[in-house]
Amino acid sequence: MNKLKQELYNLLESETTIFDFVQETSLDGLWYWNLENPEEGWINDKFWITLGYDPSDMVGEVNTWLELINPDDLILAKQNFEKHIANPKHSIEQTIRYTHKNGSLVWLKIKGMTIRNEQGVPVRMLGVHINVTEEKRIEVLLADTNRVAKVGSWEVDLITNKVFWSTVTRVIHEVESDFVPDVATGINFYKEGESRETITQCIEKAMTTGEPWDVELQLVTAKGNEVWVRAVGEAEFFEGQCIRLFGVFQDIDERVTATIEHTKTLERLTLATDAAQIGIWDYDVVNNNLIWDDHMYQLYGIKKTDFQGVYEAWTAGVHPDDMERGNKEIEMALADKKPFNTEFRVVWPSGEVKHIRAIATVKRNAAGEGVRITGVNWDITSRRESENQLRESEERFRQMFENAPIGIGLVDTKGKWMKVNDSFLKMSGYTFEELQAGEFHSLTHPDDLEKSLYYAKEINKGNLEKYQFELRYINKKGKTVWVILAVSSVKNKDGKTIYYVVQVIDISEKKKAEDLIVKERAFLQTLIDNLPVNVFVKDLELRKTLLNRKELEFLGITDITDVIGKSDHDLYPKAIADMTKAEELEVINSGEGFVDKEALIIKENGEKSWFLTSKIPLKDADGNVTGILGISYNITKHKLAEEKLRQFSILKSKSKEMEQFAYVASHDLREPLLTIRGYTELLQEDFSENLDKDGQQILGYIQNAVNRMDALIHGLLDYSRLSQVKQLQTVNLSQVLKDVEEDLTAVMKNSNAILCIDELPQLLAYPLEIKLLFQNLISNAIKFKNLEKSPEIHVSSRKVEKGWEFSVKDNGIGIEKRNIKKIFNIFSRLHSKDLYPGTGIGLANCKKIVELHNGTIWVESTPEKGSTFYFTILTDI
Ligand code: ADP
Repeated sequence: MNKLKQELYNLLESETTIFDFVQETSLDGLWYWNLENPEEGWINDKFWITLGYDPSDMVGEVNTWLELINPDDLILAKQNFEKHIANPKHSIEQTIRYTHKNGSLVWLKIKGMTIRNEQGVPVRMLGVHINVTEEKRIEVLLADTNRVAKVGSWEVDLITNKVFWSTVTRVIHEVESDFVPDVATGINFYKEGESRETITQCIEKAMTTGEPWDVELQLVTAKGNEVWVRAVGEAEFFEGQCIRLFGVFQDIDERVTATIEHTKTLERLTLATDAAQIGIWDYDVVNNNLIWDDHMYQLYGIKKTDFQGVYEAWTAGVHPDDMERGNKEIEMALADKKPFNTEFRVVWPSGEVKHIRAIATVKRNAAGEGVRITGVNWDITSRRESENQLRESEERFRQMFENAPIGIGLVDTKGKWMKVNDSFLKMSGYTFEELQAGEFHSLTHPDDLEKSLYYAKEINKGNLEKYQFELRYINKKGKTVWVILAVSSVKNKDGKTIYYVVQVIDISEKKKAEDLIVKERAFLQTLIDNLPVNVFVKDLELRKTLLNRKELEFLGITDITDVIGKSDHDLYPKAIADMTKAEELEVINSGEGFVDKEALIIKENGEKSWFLTSKIPLKDADGNVTGILGISYNITKHKLAEEKLRQFSILKSKSKEMEQFAYVASHDLREPLLTIRGYTELLQEDFSENLDKDGQQILGYIQNAVNRMDALIHGLLDYSRLSQVKQLQTVNLSQVLKDVEEDLTAVMKNSNAILCIDELPQLLAYPLEIKLLFQNLISNAIKFKNLEKSPEIHVSSRKVEKGWEFSVKDNGIGIEKRNIKKIFNIFSRLHSKDLYPGTGIGLANCKKIVELHNGTIWVESTPEKGSTFYFTILTDI
């Protein structure tokens, strides 16, 4: 034994102070326990001090110790103790946790030994406490850190080929806590393929070159889960021989997965920013560094290479007017006064102006200062433009609404006025408030309400999109206003009606004008209908658009609508229609009309009509030909009269010749007749005794014939004299009739005739002729008397237009109807001269005299009852 050690032993036995020094200073607690009486023990002061107690307060030490020891550790200590009793080789060595007075944990390493009696029975136990709290705390902290960091350690002893895995390593591999790996199983946990190959290479390399490894690989755990780990390891060498490999595993699955997710997110973000053309910028305030992604350059219409730095690009791009504001917004955002959310303009090098929307977030340091600002820009030009367009169109609509000369209003789906313009208010006379008090139909005239309600219902039901009709409104003054009402529905994107646009055009003036046109048209129609000419109007297609009654009558059509719109080809034979078409086209094309062109129209039934036609082009205000006006004067009657006149003049000259011949003949015939009469009278006077009865009778016949001849020649002379030119004079007919009556006194007496004369007028006439006229008629009335009755003659007169009508009525033999016409012809007689003597010239003379006085003569007669001769004297001009 070492000499000093021996000395210390001796001192310990003799000097208790030495022992006390040792136990007080070198140990953190000493204990001595009576195994024969477990209640009895001694624990030194240092132990209590280690646990924070005042040793003088400590009594019943064993019990107090029991209170302070961790119960789990006590169980383990008891087991250790029992094992040691049974087998002294089993050492009592254990780290036990105690509770410090302040509640903290105190780790004390316990080491003990038994003291046995002569029989070898343990009777005492001596033990020491060593405070390992500090080491233990570091160890636990490391384990906790490893656990939290998911770092597990491992070691391969290449001499013994033993593998050690820490708890976290086991947890990472998801194996049981008692799992014992070897090198091969350890490597096999790496995922087959790249991971396993990589680790194998790393290990080989480390073992040969000593190069450590630090790789991120995938494991497949015992439960089959794939996890990402960071495997770090290195080799230890001894005398050029690799003896140990050790390292750590770190579960980085979450991080890697997150990274992968992050990469995916980033890819998606890139895709999104690509697709949406979103530019990303990042401004490091501290280092005054601005970064742009590629999209930013695209948004600014510039190339990265054209600028020295991003800041230059930004200043060059931003519209000068927006620059200051932009910078201010960034300052405000950094100062946390206002979030960065703005719009500004960018001017492209081409001069094109783009609208950019920008938002950004600010990263702040602990002091709250903005240190970084990251933002996005995107182009909102087209949105801005469409917004501008929308605004402009809204403005246009507003302008149109407010300034429209027609009334415009908006009505909600319940029929309430939402808005109306000034024109509407003016037309209605109401204020907007007054209109709002009513509803959409309030203005409608009662007679038009039913129709208006019907339309409103239809559009409300969605059966109509819009409607329009004419109706009457009653304005505030109670006056009726004719309007065109147009209503259309305005729908939202779901097709639901949100309101109605109502347009109202005041057409009162137009209505008045229309009424006037209708009236004027009626006036025009009446006017042309009463013209004695054919009038028509045709359009440029030569269809009739207007015609008068005379034209309609000529066409033989009663309904005017059967003619309107028709051309001459629909109404006349083709030859005529071709002719009129040609001349009308000429008028339209030349713009020049013609006047009084004579034309013969022969209808299909052969009827001939002559017209004097004028056709004039109708022109509008600009002088353009719009149609044709035709006026035709039907001259058929004139044409026929002309013809008659021509024939009449031939006849007249013939009859004149006849009259002259009759005059000359009768005058010359009279001469020899007078000679014959003279000689027969001589014969009668001087030689009648020389003649026998027969001779005397013959002489009588000759004298009769001569007398008759004489009367005939007289008559002829009278007849021819009537044609000679004479002078009209005022004639008192009453006087004339008196003279006639006187002249006929003897004849009347012979036949007991009664002559009744009404009051007769004075008139312009040829006196001799008019007397002869009455004389002839009255003579005939007496001569052709009924044998059974005495003749009664009645002369009367009545005023007619331009003169007088006279009648001479008798009760004589009358005249057969068939003979009535011929009795006025010269030499026309109905009876033999024996029954009624006469020459047949009387009535011919009468006719001539009447015609001389512009009149006509006719007779009405009933055989056996009597005749009435009528004649007119039309000399009143
Ligand atoms: P006249 O008397 O010399 O025969 P008129 O010319 O005077 O010739 O008459 C022609 C004919 O008309 C007569 O012959 C007679 O037959 C008929 N006539 C004329 N007047 C009458 C009359 N008043 N009543 C019946 N017959 C008449």
